[in-house]
Parts: sequence; structure tokens; C-alpha cells
Amino acid sequence: MSLIVMKFGGTSVANINKIRNVASIVENEINGNKLVIVLSAMAGETNKMQQYIDEISSDSKLENDLILTSGESVTIALLSAILKKKKIRSIPLLGWQVPIITDENYQKAKILNIDKERINDFFKQHDVLIIAGFQGINSLGFVTSLGRGGSDTTAVAIASAIEADRCDIYTDVDGVYNADPNLVPKAKKIPKLAFEEMLEMSSLGAKVLHTRSVELAMKNNLTLQVLSSITKNKGTFIIDEKKLIEKEMVSGVSYSNNESKITISGIPDKPGISAQIFGLLADNNINVDMIVQNISQDGVNANITFTVPNLEINSAKEILKNNLSKIKYNSLKTDENVSKISVIGMGMMSQSGVAQKMFRTLANNSINILAISTSEIKISVLIDQKFTNIAVKSLHEAYNLTEN
Ligand code: ADP
Ligand code: ASP
Ligand code: MG
Repeated sequence: MSLIVMKFGGTSVANINKIRNVASIVENEINGNKLVIVLSAMAGETNKMQQYIDEISSDSKLENDLILTSGESVTIALLSAILKKKKIRSIPLLGWQVPIITDENYQKAKILNIDKERINDFFKQHDVLIIAGFQGINSLGFVTSLGRGGSDTTAVAIASAIEADRCDIYTDVDGVYNADPNLVPKAKKIPKLAFEEMLEMSSLGAKVLHTRSVELAMKNNLTLQVLSSITKNKGTFIIDEKKLIEKEMVSGVSYSNNESKITISGIPDKPGISAQIFGLLADNNINVDMIVQNISQDGVNANITFTVPNLEINSAKEILKNNLSKIKYNSLKTDENVSKISVIGMGMMSQSGVAQKMFRTLANNSINILAISTSEIKISVLIDQKFTNIAVKSLHEAYNLTEN
């Protein structure tokens, strides 16, 4: 007997026919195994819930999370009802019934605990547990959501807690590609990828896996497979770096339009000023990513440019404006029409020239670089959003990543 966790995303459960298709995939896996199926809401449902929240301008976090997570109740119940007609012993479970215990951060709650014994108890009477993704319960007894795309994290957290033999993430593409296949038709599927590379790809925009799910899988050394719920192709395995025989110099190109740029000009060029600005933002839980500081022409004042998530741009602006008297800057400008383009690869650690090729390729396409950030295995640049397509496609070609 194997313990298998299978997660199906919104496009895989978008309508009744697709849920029937999931039911047959599940049926084929039973064979005496015990299965945990994690589902998202039907594609588009969570967006619809977000629109309702926006329509009433609700800032009640507790209510908002209850609204946002509602779509998953429908899909788990539908799948379970279909499986029961096939005489399969299944049961639908919401986050609080498992329970999936989270911290108190509504909208981006972190899973704190999942009790293996409780899951085993459910398995005494059932062969298939169908669990709502993206939701949990906090210590106050209220429903929390894990952040958009969070069902992947539910699946990985459960697989880790029960020490599953397999954790398969079914989606609308048949694996992880070396660029978003919907943007770059010539993108190639990657058969195996290290956790570290996948982590960079997800956090730099490849939404095929929720970043936190990759973090958790890496921490627990849990191999993941990303595969299609439509085709029967083998998917991409996300594995421990030590098991990777060949390390690509560049294994993928990602982009993200989820960040905005802030430029503060004319700040006094003295020790402690960056600590003050970024301290204020950190105190307010605002994540700063890329940072560029330069001295202005007068040699007295400096300018600082940095990026923050789009969702946090308004709070960041407000904090900086409220602290004008402390920071003493001349002007504050924001730009939401920027895009972050990244190249990622484990082999970058040992080879030079990757950055040079990136900058040269962008220059050849007359694309200006607004900010740069690097780590051992990635280089990111900030550019004008209108050049996203051309930047991703030309870099994809420059590093010979295209399918022949
Ligand atoms: P699900 O609803 O199954 O969770 P998502 O929409 O969250 O699916 O993730 C799948 C999508 O991720 C794909 O349709 C694809 O457009 C996008 N994507 C972005 N980058 C990549 C990549 N490098 N490889 C595969 N898919 C990617
Ligand atoms: N339904 C949620 C969302 O759309 C969670 C998920 O799909 O992973 O964000
Ligand atoms: Mg997803």
C-alpha cells in the first residue's frame, strides 16, 4: 500500500466534465492505496470572490478569508459525490476538519501543524480524503487563506506531515518549462529540476508552483512531480540537488509583473539613511526586493530606487509620505509598469559570463535596465513592462533554451 497525495488546480476542476476526469485519474490510482486529494476552486472562482470583496471595499480580514476560500467547498464535495457513485470510500474535508492549523495572518497564513494521527483516523473509514486546498484554521477558530495559489502548499504540507510516498501536482501544463509555455511557445519541458532552482523560478514569477510549497518540499526533502491532468505524459520532477547529474548553466527564464518601483530622490547621503527607510518598511511588513542607490550629481544627496509587491505599493507610499520630515527627501515617484525578468540555473555558481550575456541581449533589443539583483543561482533585472515578451523570448534564445 502506498500513501499518495494528488493536487488538482483550478483549471483541472473548472467544470463537471473536468471533475469527472479527475475522478477517473483518482480511481486509477486506488489499487489498495490510500489517497489524499487536494483541490482548488474552479478556475476563476477565487477571482470572482476577490471582486466581491473589492466591490464592498471590505477590509475585514476575517470575513475576506471566508469569502476567498469558499470555492474549494464546492469542488471537494462534487468530486466526493462523484466518487461515491463509483462506490469509492471517499470523504470531503474542509481545512478546519483536518485540521490544518495556521498562524493568525489572514490572506497569507502559514501552516503550523497537520496531525498525522488525525489523518490516519480518517483513513480507517475511507480510502480517499478530499481536502480543500488554500485554507486552514487559526488558534482563534477562524478560517484563514494561504495566499493566492496556496493549494500547492496545502498538498506539500499534508504530504510532508503524513510522509507520503508521492506528491503529484496536476495542472494545465505537463510539467515545468524553461519559460512560461503560454508566453514562449518554443519553451522546453525540464525533466528534473533542483528544489533551489524551482524555488527561484516560483518566487520570480513562475506561478506553476506556489513558492511556499517549494520551500516546504525542499525543507522536508519531498520529491514533487508537476504533471498534466489532461495528457498522460511524464511530468517534471523537483528533486534534491545532489540527485541532479547535470547542472544547467541556465535552466529557465521567468518574469513577474507583480512588483512596482519606488524612487526617492534627493535624500541626504549620510550613514543610516537606508537603515531608516528600509527599517520603516520592514516594521510595516512590506517586502522590499531590488535596491539601487546612487549619489546625485551635486555629490551631497542620493537617490534610492527599490521594488515592492504591487499589493503593497500604496501602503509603502503612505509610510514614506508620513515620514517625510524624518527622511527629508525631495521627491517620491512610483512606477507600476515595470517587469522583473530573471535567468536561473544551478550551473551559474561555477561558470562566468551569464550576466554579461543577459545584459548584452537586452542591450541588443534596446531594453534599458532599471535595477539589477543577483544571487548565486539567478540574475534579475527590472525593465519597462512593455518589453516583457521580447525580453523573455530573446533571453530564451540567447541561452539556447528553445525546442528545436
Ligand atoms: P493551477 O490552476 O493548476 O494551480 P496555475 O495557473 O497556478 O495552475 O499554474 C499553471 C500555469 O503556470 C501554466 O498554465 C503556465 O502558464 C504558468 N507558468 C508560468 N511559468 C511556467 C513555467 N516555467 N513552466 C510551466 N508553467 C508555467
Ligand atoms: N483557489 C485559490 C486561488 O485561486 C488557490 C489555488 O488555486 O491554489 O488562488
Ligand atoms: Mg496554481
